[in-house]
Amino acid sequence: MTRITNHLPTAELQALDAAHHMHPFTHAAGLAQKGARVILRGEGCWLTDSEGHRILDGMAGLWCVNAGYGREELAQAAAAQMRELPFYNTFFQTTHVPAIALAAKLAELAPGNLNHVFFAGSGSEANDTNIRLVRQFWAAQGKPDKQVIISRRNAYHGSTMGGASLGGMAAMHAQGGLPIPGIVHVGQPHWWAEGGEMTPEAFGIARARELEAAIADLGEDRVAAFIAEPVQGAGGVIVPPASYWPEVQRICDAHDILLIADEVITGFGRTGNWFGSQTMGLRPDIMTIAKGLSSGYQPIGGSILSDRVAEVIGGIEFNHGYTYSGHPVAAAVALANLRILEDEDLPGRVGRITGPYLARAWAGLADHPLVGAAETCGLMGALQLTPDKAARARFAAPEGTAGLRARERCFANDLVMRHVGDRMIIAPPLVISEDEVDMLVARARTALDETLAGLR
Ligand code: PLP
Repeated sequence: MTRITNHLPTAELQALDAAHHMHPFTHAAGLAQKGARVILRGEGCWLTDSEGHRILDGMAGLWCVNAGYGREELAQAAAAQMRELPFYNTFFQTTHVPAIALAAKLAELAPGNLNHVFFAGSGSEANDTNIRLVRQFWAAQGKPDKQVIISRRNAYHGSTMGGASLGGMAAMHAQGGLPIPGIVHVGQPHWWAEGGEMTPEAFGIARARELEAAIADLGEDRVAAFIAEPVQGAGGVIVPPASYWPEVQRICDAHDILLIADEVITGFGRTGNWFGSQTMGLRPDIMTIAKGLSSGYQPIGGSILSDRVAEVIGGIEFNHGYTYSGHPVAAAVALANLRILEDEDLPGRVGRITGPYLARAWAGLADHPLVGAAETCGLMGALQLTPDKAARARFAAPEGTAGLRARERCFANDLVMRHVGDRMIIAPPLVISEDEVDMLVARARTALDETLAGLR
């Protein structure tokens, strides 16, 4: 068989890919016809594909390459740890230095009394851990009926049975018999699409109160936890109205419901603080982490637990864990990545400089005829495409035709942006410069112009 390297022609790589590689969230037959884009390397915010295009990565990979591509320190951290101890487990009363150091560092960085880390290999795994954890938290205190977890429609919490059940994606629930029992979904705080005639503030309160109504319906003694992303990511970068989170926090406190903040996207500087919970003023009992934890250089995730939760779980044997929980190479790389984020003050830079800069530049796109709303939170952004701004109208079905076209025009202009239906979203690496933000916005505008021309 031919040796498969970077040097093979694109068409050959694409043919082999189509023959043997099943991609996530992809219609394989459709992809085989078009051929997958082959990405060869990255540097800073830039990717190079097999055709030699230099592409501005407006999505930081999959919301994860917070420190940017090409960090030699991270390659060295991985190599050094592989030489020293490539693997050992953390079961059966053993531990190792990278897991100890990473857990201690996370306890230092996490807000409040979130001081205890249970490691996983990904965000999905960590949310599966959370399901078992919160249910066991109540059972261990003599409340075995407090088992239901409330989540939100259009939330994304991963792709495992548990993660996808917590998530509120109808297309995922339609396959494989989901959601699993004991998970209830309430409405999302997406004012543009669902707020009707209400003000954003009134709508934020109304959507928070749906949580309270669900708790009343189920009975407080049956509800274990509420899980949510501080800012929904995969659902379309939905920044909630300012009234939403304070009301949710009040409701969780009043009814003794654990609050799980899924920080897989919003963690590690994305919103201008270390964690989205700080930006939104939340006091979670558990935070889910992954992605930016290692800037995607190694697969690693986890759950950070409060003292209260850890004390209860620590009082029993929790029959749960993964071979790769706290994997030493992943932990060493994550630790080196956190050092970069800290030394370069990337969360602070997003909060003070690049976040506000993006917010101003992005708001400039709101004058485009296709754009109904241009929103950001730190270095997350969304453009809502609409055929009629004033009416907050949606395009005729099938939803997403305009979004898909816009995504393709972005790619034709060497920019990666993603679409969720007719909403265009970005989350660039946190190292993006102001000049690169200008470039991103200029390319997005060109893509919008070309999309509009194609729709006429
Ligand atoms: N939670 C959130 C908020 C996410 O955005 C994601 C992935 O996009 C996950 C969980 C799942 O993480 P993973 O893909 O690492 O399993």
